[in-house]
Amino acid sequence: MNQYLKTDEWKIIENGFNPENHRASESIFSIGNGNMGQRANFEEKYSGSTLQGSYIAGVYYPDKTRVGWWKNGYPEYYAKVLNAANWIGIQISIDGEELDLAVCQTREFIRELNMKEGTLKRSFVATMPSGKEIKADIIRFVSMVDKEAGAIRYQITPLNFSGKIKVHAYIDGDVKNEDSNYNEKFWNGVNKGVQGNSGFVTLETKKTAFQVCTAMNLKILANGKELQLNFETDATTKYIGSAAELNVQQKQELTILKYAVNLSSENHPKAQIEKNAQDVLQRVIEKGFDTLLTEHIEAWAKKWEDSDIVIEGDPAAQQGIRFNIFQLHQTYTGDDPRLNIGPKGFTGEKYGGSTYWDTEAYCLSFFMNTAGHHVAKNLLVYRYNHLQKAIENAEKLGFSDGAALYPMVTMNGEECHNEWEITFEEIHRNGAIAYAIYNYIRHTNDKDYLSDFGLEVLVAIARFWKQRVNFSEEKKKFVILGVTGPNEYENNVNNNWYTNFIAGWCMEYTLESAEYVKKSNPVRYKELVQKMNFDEARETTDWQNIIKNMYYPEDNNLGVFLQQDGFMDKEQILVKDLDPKIRPINQHWSWDRILRSVFIKQADVLQGLYFFEHKFDLETIKKNYDFYEARTVHESSLSPCVHSILAAKTGNIEKAYELYLRTSRLDLDDYNREVAEGLHITSMAGTWMSIVEGFGGMRVIGDQLHFNPLIPDEWSSYSFHIRFRGRLLYVTTTHNEITIRLVRGEKVNLVVHGKDFEVDKNRDVILKK
Ligand code: BGC
Repeated sequence: MNQYLKTDEWKIIENGFNPENHRASESIFSIGNGNMGQRANFEEKYSGSTLQGSYIAGVYYPDKTRVGWWKNGYPEYYAKVLNAANWIGIQISIDGEELDLAVCQTREFIRELNMKEGTLKRSFVATMPSGKEIKADIIRFVSMVDKEAGAIRYQITPLNFSGKIKVHAYIDGDVKNEDSNYNEKFWNGVNKGVQGNSGFVTLETKKTAFQVCTAMNLKILANGKELQLNFETDATTKYIGSAAELNVQQKQELTILKYAVNLSSENHPKAQIEKNAQDVLQRVIEKGFDTLLTEHIEAWAKKWEDSDIVIEGDPAAQQGIRFNIFQLHQTYTGDDPRLNIGPKGFTGEKYGGSTYWDTEAYCLSFFMNTAGHHVAKNLLVYRYNHLQKAIENAEKLGFSDGAALYPMVTMNGEECHNEWEITFEEIHRNGAIAYAIYNYIRHTNDKDYLSDFGLEVLVAIARFWKQRVNFSEEKKKFVILGVTGPNEYENNVNNNWYTNFIAGWCMEYTLESAEYVKKSNPVRYKELVQKMNFDEARETTDWQNIIKNMYYPEDNNLGVFLQQDGFMDKEQILVKDLDPKIRPINQHWSWDRILRSVFIKQADVLQGLYFFEHKFDLETIKKNYDFYEARTVHESSLSPCVHSILAAKTGNIEKAYELYLRTSRLDLDDYNREVAEGLHITSMAGTWMSIVEGFGGMRVIGDQLHFNPLIPDEWSSYSFHIRFRGRLLYVTTTHNEITIRLVRGEKVNLVVHGKDFEVDKNRDVILKK
């Protein structure tokens, strides 16, 4: 843990500058708008340790795979989110001395992320080596309205001198990814131009040929008036700069405005990208800083109006959940089905910014309930658009006849992960893609999704499972051999319960969905049968046979499902018996020791019980929860939230709260000392789930919305928003009562703690405890 930030309900605040925390802060104070993101790097020069990071959504580089031992079937490359042109740079020199906080003495340093407004502020007083003191106040944001634009207001005041200040604003495209496999730079310079106080750089990615045009404009103001200055310019292949030097009197405040836009060839034809960049830049300049900021704050206010969670009585928990919600909205806004949610979003390089099963298993629920159904639908359509690639992925591994294996890690639909135990074996991910369709439809009632898109995906996934199982003569059952479950601390196991279960369920759901489309839309069904080459009689019989005869390992004495065959052969020691000094075990034990041990990285059997809770009785869930929680080390950020939800389900509110805290402040308190690499964006959705589905007990059963709210002792109340089939509801739980208000939409029937209610515009549901 590293707790250096101040607790505040709406802000993240760092008081005092400690270079040792700088990289961590660069991640935590990141800003983004779904279209681009920016780590909290300083605008001015910083010669200390920093991870420079500006990212543009959808722009990636296929970095040639680097592995020690090549295996057939490995993808050729790993797709990486790119560190793109640095658009924030503003160098400040004072009488020839450069402002650099690694060199100056700094006092009154405050870095502040205002989550309500979506702004990053910084202020400080710096003493230069010469003794000259300046005060700086800086604010920047990337607009939630003009999604290609960012703006910076940098105010600087000489405190104890009058002298010359040189302001040098630039765009630097000569950047690198720290995680580049072969120490290669990924961008080529295409064009650049600079004149007076404006300029642009156009870059193109090697291999993928994405272009990004970054354009900027610099203004300098004194006493609120723009100064007419002579700007000097400089440029190299991937860089342009514009500078002006001026005399400033002691205590006179200088305001520097820098506007920048990033346009990608994903959204603009290459032939027009530069012209369009000039137009967008011009529009932004005309709006001006204050209007841009006001519109941006209004856009954030709308987001918060529909998605805020209020926790009373526990400011640290309040700050934690708002931070999670804020970062999720910064990463994905759902207006473009080509985009998705990387585990680190726009806050770092690790995990390549690519799409994982995290989206379907964790993030969908958050966006569906807080941002709207169309946003959730775009997440599903993303996978629909990758179906052909998923079929090709399966073909590369020897599957045929339209079987699809969705990738574990991807940018464009192709698998790009290259560890055999994950690439080839973590096939459970295919199940999450199908589960997301089911989850989306039960929330939204958008059953047309099946005929429009969903059935094709489901059939291709069911075909994969049909080919991946084999019949064991010994067991007289279908088995799935050689897999890795969600628990990556076991590889190449046979009959991972979760994988077998989700495989069976996928076939069941595909049968049900095919039947639905056949009845509800026979014309489309016929079309789809042809398109998919669907041999209905044979394929459905095969699936039914597998469903009926699938093998599920369990221990009847203990009354638990076994994570995999042979699980009880392991030495059954528990997490509570581990010396805290050797945790996390992945940093202290050899890999083989981890594999042989009973310890579980993340929810595995419990992931299945979480997804398919409605198929099991409470007693079974409880027994499995007690058994597996005692053996789980939660060394994936995706784990504590699922356990927290099941702890709440089984009535263990203290444990639910303990696990909740671990997930909600994972990054703010840097539990694993790794936040410098980037934030855990996808697990943030899990934090949201722990409140809404865990403490709030929100479920959709059949066509009805259910709540079973519990409240931790530490809180005096908590409230959250939920969207359900065209409505927005607001649920507040205190120790004495539960109130459910209909904010928007038609009246609806609900079940609260097992009782039926109707909630209407003027009739809240109030349940006294
Ligand atoms: C987890 C995976 C997850 C990935 C990205 C890994 O540590 O084990 O389940 O998909 O991180 O978040």
